[in-house]
Amino acid sequence: MDLKAYVELQKEEMLKTLQEVVRINSVRGEATEKAPFGEGPLKCLNFVLDKAESLGFKTKNVDNYMGWCEYGEGDEMIAIMGHLDVVPEGAGWDRDPFSGDVENGNIYGRGTMDDKGPTVSCLYALKAIKESGLPLKRRIRILFGTNEETGSDDMRYYRENGGEIPFCGFTPDGEYPVINGEKGIINAAFRKNISQKGDLILKSLEGGTAYNVVPAYAKAVFECKESLTDEILKAFKEDEFIKISKDSGGFSVEAKGLEAHASTPEKGDNAIGRLFISLKNLPLDEDLKDAFKFLAEKIGRETKGESLGINLHDDVSGYLSLNMGVASGDENYIEVKLNYRYPVTLSYENCAPKLESQFADHGFEKTEEKHKNSLFVDENTDFVQKLLKIYHEETGFKPEAKSIGGGTYAKALPNIVAFGPIFPGDEVREHLPNEYWEIDKIFLNMEIYARAMYELANS
Ligand SMILES: [Zn+2]
Repeated sequence: MDLKAYVELQKEEMLKTLQEVVRINSVRGEATEKAPFGEGPLKCLNFVLDKAESLGFKTKNVDNYMGWCEYGEGDEMIAIMGHLDVVPEGAGWDRDPFSGDVENGNIYGRGTMDDKGPTVSCLYALKAIKESGLPLKRRIRILFGTNEETGSDDMRYYRENGGEIPFCGFTPDGEYPVINGEKGIINAAFRKNISQKGDLILKSLEGGTAYNVVPAYAKAVFECKESLTDEILKAFKEDEFIKISKDSGGFSVEAKGLEAHASTPEKGDNAIGRLFISLKNLPLDEDLKDAFKFLAEKIGRETKGESLGINLHDDVSGYLSLNMGVASGDENYIEVKLNYRYPVTLSYENCAPKLESQFADHGFEKTEEKHKNSLFVDENTDFVQKLLKIYHEETGFKPEAKSIGGGTYAKALPNIVAFGPIFPGDEVREHLPNEYWEIDKIFLNMEIYARAMYELANS
C-alpha cells in the first residue's frame, strides 16, 4: 500500500475532527493570565493537542502561546506551520459562522479555509505517514499557532524561548504553487506640529482607514474669512475628484480616490495624495504650506516612491510599493501613515533612512513604526524544487515559484515558504462571510501535504 492509500483511510476522521475544530470559536479575545490571546484560541489549541496526542504523537504546549506535535526520529526537523486562530466572523453570514456543517460537498464555517482546514489536514496527513510505517530521516513537526491573524506573537514566543528552528518546511496558509518571496513591509507614521496664525487656518484633516488600504476619501476643513474664501474658491480648480465647498466659517475640500490593497497600490487612486496636491498652493502659514507641498510633491499619488528616490527594484519582485494610507490633523498638527514594501532581495536600510530624513527635513517626527523583514528563498533551493515538483505531479498545474507584496505566516520562522492551500483560479473566501471549502479540495491538499512532508523528511 502506498502513502496515498493511507491518506485515503484518514479522510473521514479528518473531516469529523475539522468539524469539531471549526465549532470552537477561536477569535482573539481578552488576554488572561493563562491565555495570552484569549480563551477561544487556547481552547482550540488544547483540543488539537489532545487530539494529536490521542493519534500517538509527541506533543508540547508552549506556555499557551502555541503548541506542536511531532513524529519520527533524527537530528533535523521539518516544520509545518499552521494556525488555529481565526478572524472575527463579521456580518453577512447565511448560517452559523461556527457550524462546521458538512453539506453539498462543502464544509462551512470560519476557519475552514484559513487555516483550520489546512492545519487539520496536515495533522491527518502525518497520521497517514505514521500508519504507513514508511521510514523517515528527519522528524516532522506540526506547529499550531494561535496568533497569526493579529501579529504572529505565537511564533515570536516560540523562537525567543528556544523553539527549534526547522531544517526547512512550509506553511499551508498562502497559496500554490510556492511563495518564495515576500516583500519587506514597513508601517510608519510621521507627525508635524504646527502653529497657525494667519487668515487661513486648517481646522481638521482626515482621510483613509488603515495603513494597508489605498484611501478612497479625504477631507480638509479650513477656517477663513469670507472675502478670502471667495477669492480661494474662484481660483480653485475643481474636477471630478476634487470638490471645494463654502461653509459657515470657511470652506472644505474633499477628494475622492479608489480603494485598493496596499500591496498593489497601482490598482487604486490615492485620495489623500489628490487632496495634498490641491492644497499645496493655498495661502497657508509657511510651516503648513511647506508640509503640504512636501507631501504633494514627494508622494502625492505616486505608488513606487519615485520622487522620494526610494523606487527600489529587483528582478524577482519588481518595484517598491508605497501607500499613504491615513491622514489626520487639526489646528495643531498633521500626521500621515505610510505603508511601504521593499523588494524581496533588499532591506530596510535601502529605503527607510532615506525616506525618514526627508520627512525630518520638513519638520516631521516619526511617531510609530512596525517593520516585517522581507522573505526570500531561492527558487533553486532543493526543498522549493521538491515542493514544486510534487505540486505539479499531483495537480498538473505549472510549477512556478512566485513573489508577492503581501506577507504570509512564513515570515514568522526561518526556512519556511508558503505552500497552498489555495489552487490557481480558486475563489478566495478567507476573511469573508460564508467561508467554506470544497471537501474534495481539502482531500487533495491532504494528499499533497502528506507527500510533501514525507519527501522533505527524506530528501
Ligand atoms: Zn491564515
